Amino acid sequence: MNVAFKQPIKPRHSLDSIAEALLLPSGIDGVYARTAVFEQVADGLAALISRYRETDTEVLRFPPVMSRRQLEKSGYLKSFPHFLGCVSCLAGDESHIRSSVERYEAGEDWTGGLAAADLVLSPAACYPVYPLVASRGGVPAGGLIFDVACDCFRREPSKLLDRLQSFRMREYVCIGSPEQIQNFRARWMKRAEGFAGQLALPYRIEQASDPFFGRGGKMMAMSQVEQELKFELLIPVHSDEQPTACMSFNCHRDHFGATWNLRTASGATAHTGCVAFGIDRLALALFVTHGVELAQWPTRVRQALMV
Ligand code: AMP
Ligand code: ZN
Repeated sequence: MNVAFKQPIKPRHSLDSIAEALLLPSGIDGVYARTAVFEQVADGLAALISRYRETDTEVLRFPPVMSRRQLEKSGYLKSFPHFLGCVSCLAGDESHIRSSVERYEAGEDWTGGLAAADLVLSPAACYPVYPLVASRGGVPAGGLIFDVACDCFRREPSKLLDRLQSFRMREYVCIGSPEQIQNFRARWMKRAEGFAGQLALPYRIEQASDPFFGRGGKMMAMSQVEQELKFELLIPVHSDEQPTACMSFNCHRDHFGATWNLRTASGATAHTGCVAFGIDRLALALFVTHGVELAQWPTRVRQALMV
């Protein structure tokens, strides 16, 4: 499917030329220091997304780490083991820890003394919501909506500025009946058009699949497409031919409901869905589209972001 982008495509500002003003290298691919101007736009995006929040939405902000057990139980190792970052620490008694330090000081490899902790780096913002809801009891008849965010980690090192190992994700998450999830996602796919339009970003929304691991992953991706479980809002960042996914609209069916035994008021297994905003990608898309000088951006875009 090759649908034309909505919004006229202006001459694009090259990524290389704007990198210096936006993202400073850390020595590790996909990990950057963000400059003040980049953060101004990221903050503006966060505030704009908050203005789209529906009533009766519960706001939660998660740290960049989460329970390893919870992520294991969510099936992450089956789908995306190649992305996972697990926290490992020097554990054991003082002499064990000291011997690792001494190995480091002797210029030897000291990392053999590390042991996996009960923490992983969160790969998406919504994973901790489902066990939290489960711990509270059932899902009310009207369903539940959450506004969540965290710094995410995915082990996909790349020199491309839009493929980060550490990036920020904001999500609205819905838990309820299958109809409630379908409505939630349809509302958001419509609303996202207004959001992109407000920011004068060229975009198109397309069906998508997740980069599941390995050969078995190809089957999972095909089944995901068949069931229309994922759509993405794509914006040309490098090229029109390979636009970048800046938002996703996901239906998980009863995956998390069954995993965490989430029940609706009627006793059925709850369905879940989420809409995710890639804050760093959206900010980058804005700079690529409108340039590095905020003063030169269209007035309505500056007003929307309050920059
Ligand atoms: P996903 O769960 O893969 O649909 O990711 C949700 C959103 O996070 C995507 O639409 C992107 O905007 C953003 N995202 C995912 N992976 C990366 C990455 N490696 N670097 C920057 N942003 C990302
Ligand atoms: Zn999610």
